[in-house]
Amino acid sequence: VESFVDYLPRAGAIILTGHEHPDGDCLGSQIGLYHLLRGLGHEVRILLPDAPIRSLEFLCRTTPVAIHESGAELPPCDTLVLVDCAELGRLGALRDAVIRRRPRIAVVDHHVGSDRADGSIGFVDVEAAASGELVWRLYRELGRRPDAVAAEALYCALVADTGWFRYSNTDAKVFTIAADLVACGADPAAIYDRLYRCQPAQSLGILAEGIGRSEIELDGRVGFVAISHGLLERAARVGFDLDQVMEPLRSVGGIEVVVMLKELASDRVKVSLRASGEIDVQRIAKVFGGGGHKKAAGVTLELPMAESRARIRSAIAAALTARESASGLS
Ligand code: AMP
Ligand code: MN
Ligand code: MN
Repeated sequence: VESFVDYLPRAGAIILTGHEHPDGDCLGSQIGLYHLLRGLGHEVRILLPDAPIRSLEFLCRTTPVAIHESGAELPPCDTLVLVDCAELGRLGALRDAVIRRRPRIAVVDHHVGSDRADGSIGFVDVEAAASGELVWRLYRELGRRPDAVAAEALYCALVADTGWFRYSNTDAKVFTIAADLVACGADPAAIYDRLYRCQPAQSLGILAEGIGRSEIELDGRVGFVAISHGLLERAARVGFDLDQVMEPLRSVGGIEVVVMLKELASDRVKVSLRASGEIDVQRIAKVFGGGGHKKAAGVTLELPMAESRARIRSAIAAALTARESASGLS
C-alpha cells in the first residue's frame, strides 16, 4: 500500500466517500479532508452513498456534499478516497458505479484490517481513535492548519468515535487534538447543541419505545434491543439517531455487550455491537462478514430478526464461555 501523502501529487481529480449511513466520524473526516485538499489546490468533491442522519446535516451547511442516486454513474475522477472504511462493499449502491469507473482507490481509515482491504494507497492506523485523528495528522504532515469549518467537522469526528471522550480509545493524544481543534475555531458546546439539543419532540417517544424493548440476558451480561422495521421508519421520518437507544443499556452495571438489531427488511438485519469489558466484538462481527473495532463493531445479516438475534446471541455466549474457561485455567 503506497503512502497517501506520497501519492497525492499524482492524485488527479479526487472524490471522497465513506461507508453507507455515515456517522459523525465518517462525514466529519470527509469534510475535514475536503478542505485540506482544496487548500492544497486539488480538484476534490464529496459523494456520499446515502444521506446523513438529520442531526449531522449542519456539518454540510458550508461544504458541498453530494448524495449518490441509485443507478447514477460515478462522476469522472482519477482517485476515490474511502474515508472511515476500506472496502467497496461498504459503499452500498455506490459500489457498482465505482466498479464501472475503476478509479484508483485510496483509504484513510482506522478499522481493523483496513491495511489489507481494497485500497492500493493508504493512510491507515488502527490505533487512531477516529478517522478524524488521521485527517488531523494529514494537516500536520502537509503543513496546514484546519480552518473553523474543518475544525468543527474534525471535532465532530473525534467526539463521535470517542463517545465525547468517554470510551477506552480516549487518550492524551485525543485531548491534544481536541484542544488544537478548539484553538482552530471548533466550539464544543455549540457542536453538542447541534447534535443533541435539536431533536424533534417525537424522538422522546421513540427513545422510550426502544428502552421498553430492551432485554438483558446471559446472566445480566448482554443487553439486546431489537428495533422493528416500523420503529426504524418512524425514527428515520423524524431524523432520530437510534444509536442513542444503546446508551441506557450500556448504563447497567455488569453488562459487557450491548446488541442493537435493526430490521432493515423482513430478511435483512443491521447489527450493532458495543463492548465494555474484554469481549472483542470485532471478532464476533467478522465471523458473520462484518467488522469494526474491538469495542464497537457491526454487520448486516441477510436473515429475519429472530434468527439474526439467535445467531448473534450464541456467538456472544460462546465468546463469554471461552473467556471464562481461559480465565479458569490461569
Ligand atoms: P455501527 O454499529 O454501525 O455504528 O458500527 C460500529 C463500528 O463497526 C463502526 O466503526 C463501523 O464502521 C464498523 N462496522 C459496522 N458495520 C460494519 C461492516 N459490515 N463491516 C465492517 N465494519 C463495520
Ligand atoms: Mn464510521
Ligand atoms: Mn470511525
